[in-house]
Amino acid sequence: MKDSLGREIDYLRISLTESCNLRCIYCMPEGVAPKVCGETLTKENIFDIVEVAVELNIKKIRLTGGEPLLRQDIVEIIQGIKDRGIEKIYITTNGILLSEKIEKLKKAGLKGVNISLDTLDREQFNYITRGGDLERVLQGIEKALNLNLEVKINSVIMKDINENAIEELAKLTLNSQLDVRFIELMPIGQGKKFTGISNNDIYDRLEKIFEFDRNYKEIKGVSTYYKLKNSKGNIGFISPINSCFCETCNKIRLTSDGVIKRCLNSKGNTNIKEYLDKNVEKEEIKEILEQEIFKKPERHLFGKDNKDEELKNMNAIGG
Ligand code: SAM
Ligand code: SF4
Repeated sequence: MKDSLGREIDYLRISLTESCNLRCIYCMPEGVAPKVCGETLTKENIFDIVEVAVELNIKKIRLTGGEPLLRQDIVEIIQGIKDRGIEKIYITTNGILLSEKIEKLKKAGLKGVNISLDTLDREQFNYITRGGDLERVLQGIEKALNLNLEVKINSVIMKDINENAIEELAKLTLNSQLDVRFIELMPIGQGKKFTGISNNDIYDRLEKIFEFDRNYKEIKGVSTYYKLKNSKGNIGFISPINSCFCETCNKIRLTSDGVIKRCLNSKGNTNIKEYLDKNVEKEEIKEILEQEIFKKPERHLFGKDNKDEELKNMNAIGG
């Protein structure tokens, strides 16, 4: 359906959990306690919401978190979403558990996977993720490619932390059928403690090293894609900070506790799980979601005096 500004909102991102098996320094503080059971969307809650979303013309669903692959019922969730008529089902994951689960996920209906990877250096990866094993993520990527799933790598670059990773990450697109997307660090939660690098700067740095294919530029949703000459994959730039992407934003979000978020950095007013748990009529759920989509704000307000500012960390929002 269209929001009040005429944008077609056909993409729903559902966070399946706030918990994570990593603690990336810009996303999640050390030692956060897991959410209490009962506060997280059940698979039945998710299916009820998906049924309504389909009626509102949502065509694409991405499962995220926290780490969505920590959900024991992840295969059933994907299967259930597919059974309710959604063909475009994607997941965003840190990739640690990917290689052991990916075959079942694909069989259930998964179309593609975004894998977060901010460096190809083992020690740097271990530092950024506070203990993650890079090898496991690389195995997951390889397996996803072998299964012909759509693969995108999401990379956040921070000043003085992993600037030296830009070149190696971009090189991944030369020989593998995957896209690498640089996402500007957002001043949300732990992200406020670090300084991001603008995507203009990353592009300039890459241009000094590689030759770009001058005939290729494509805007898809909030990403602008370029291509290195003779590469198999593309390089995407998602630039929430240095060039507002809100005009082409087509999504609405649901946090793992059931709050509908009209925008990444607005708090959210309505907890849909509370209505679902009271067994209200499906029509009422539909009206709530419809209203939330309709009232999607014109743009995010990072860095502005924003009374509606989201104060949670990204793992709790569902990045
Ligand atoms: N755990 C999964 C993962 O890492 O892909 C899914 C959830 S994670 C919150 C989703 C994405 O948000 C990751 O690509 C991560 O790099 C990104 N992210 C987290 N904090 C961020 C921040 N402050 N600014 C920009 N991106 C951020
Ligand atoms: Fe976990 Fe993803 Fe946040 Fe890293 S970015 S701490 S993997 S939720």
